[in-house]
Amino acid sequence: MSDQTVIAQLEALREKINDYNYQYYVLDDPSVPDSEYDRQMQALQALEAEHPELITPDSPSQKVGGEPLGAFEQVTHEVPMLSLDNAFEEADLKAFEKRLLDRLKADNKLAFSCEPKLDGLAVSILYENGVLVRAATRGDGQVGENITANVRTIANVPLKLRGADLPERIEVRGEVFMPRDGFEKLNENQRNAGLKVFANPRNAAAGSLRQLDSRITAKRPLMFYAYSLGVVAPDDFTLPDSHHERLRQLAEWGIPLCPDIGITEGSSGCLAYYEQILSRRDGLAYDIDGVVFKVDAIALQQQLGFVARAPRWAIAQKFPAQEEMTRLLDVEFQV
Ligand code: NAD
Repeated sequence: MSDQTVIAQLEALREKINDYNYQYYVLDDPSVPDSEYDRQMQALQALEAEHPELITPDSPSQKVGGEPLGAFEQVTHEVPMLSLDNAFEEADLKAFEKRLLDRLKADNKLAFSCEPKLDGLAVSILYENGVLVRAATRGDGQVGENITANVRTIANVPLKLRGADLPERIEVRGEVFMPRDGFEKLNENQRNAGLKVFANPRNAAAGSLRQLDSRITAKRPLMFYAYSLGVVAPDDFTLPDSHHERLRQLAEWGIPLCPDIGITEGSSGCLAYYEQILSRRDGLAYDIDGVVFKVDAIALQQQLGFVARAPRWAIAQKFPAQEEMTRLLDVEFQV
């Protein structure tokens, strides 16, 4: 293939993915199923891997999320909010483990935190002296939207942390999502009122959270589960040296965690967790699109660091595409 042909292909893929991103992240109104999005993104990444000299910093493969909506005040994240690399097959998971061991020059089994990949929106919630002072969306990873008033209405988000020995500042990160039963009910109400129904719970959560009138958000059945930490101050505040134990510490302070998180060893343990969650997927109270594995030792996470848009120490193993297209089509017929 000539360079000109490759450049033209790259440009076409980037333009298509940028359009999908705008629909999904800015308008909360996806135009294609996630599986189609993932296919196009994989095609872009494969072509860029063959021609690394043609990677541009503004390629969607190098960026996180979408631009924040101008309607909200902007919040600059002190620690960027990144995305996750994806694995689609068992071999990808094994390759992930190999990359980690090579980079760490280790040959022992690594401990991994295992977490359902909740299908909602990443949110950062800042507590100062135990009091919720600010909440923001991920936005483009550097700058998000100030949605404090809306997050304050989410029933399971504590406005004040429990316990005496709290850090001066702590940023809790996690997913805001809409449980399935609440989503069905919301759509039924929307239908009865002759209003637009939402394509899926992720969409409903995004539309509900990015309301300018927090009274509307308050009526929506949103929930939050934490999955990591951002800023912690003072610097010498003592936290456990394991990611999983840090999450347990958050729970002691009153922050809700997904009940299905776990810990395992090696890619074989990760695979067993994946199979277990996949088999329970339909019965879960919330939508997930995969599971996430994170190197549990914080010291190893720091050693591994980040690449352009994702940490090297984590991976999202996606589930096979479900009836996404039917769902999107259903909605178009119902509207
Ligand atoms: P991602 O969804 O692949 O992974 C990162 C996100 O996972 C985080 O920001 C967080 O919100 C979420 N997450 C859930 N549980 C988590 C946990 N336990 N730990 C850490 N993070 C957790 O990446 P992304 O950049 O948010 O979005 C890309 C994905 O979004 C695509 O693969 C596609 O499925 C979908 N998408 C679809 C369209 C479309 O048009 N249909 C457009 C854009 C993106």
